[in-house]
Amino acid sequence: MRKQERLDEPAALRNEAATWTEGWIRQQSEGKAWRWPVRDKQPLNQIILPTLRKQTASHCSFCDGFPVASLSIETIEHFYPKSSFPERAFEWSNLFYSCTRCQAAKKERFDSNILKPDESDYDFSRYFICDYTTGRLEPNPSAPLEDQQRAETTILHYKLNDAFLPDERRRWLQIRSRMDSNTELDDFAYRDFLA
Ligand SMILES: [Zn+2]
Repeated sequence: MRKQERLDEPAALRNEAATWTEGWIRQQSEGKAWRWPVRDKQPLNQIILPTLRKQTASHCSFCDGFPVASLSIETIEHFYPKSSFPERAFEWSNLFYSCTRCQAAKKERFDSNILKPDESDYDFSRYFICDYTTGRLEPNPSAPLEDQQRAETTILHYKLNDAFLPDERRRWLQIRSRMDSNTELDDFAYRDFLA
């Protein structure tokens, strides 16, 4: 999970977030399912995806898979779930570019210990270490216990060591080892693992 700097909020979201939030709170109380609102015949997720994609250089905000468009459908993850935090459903700082695997892993769950990739004091190496033999991410054993717990909670919620991810990280590590050390990491998946 790489640190990201938030780009400027798209105007469409800034201008209408309050109205849409009110609408979603009402729809939710009527038992209606979530749908992105439509503006000028375009769903809002399609309007804001380009900015979110640029913010991570086309990498998933959580697993850092790249390019998301070739792994899965490009989705937008609500860090604070829209079901239990409806008032944050259209908050720019709550929206993250994500692959469908990470989104399906976390679902509508939430834990205040989960690390947020755009938090000002977030840094990959503060919380995590890479095990290059297994391909797994582990909490940084030199970090304070509280930080280690946050790393562990993040790994569990986004299932960052599940299924194919450790194998994929090791595969990319091999590809990376055959390339120039100056190679731009934005062209790779799992950048923190390869750095
Ligand atoms: Zn992902």
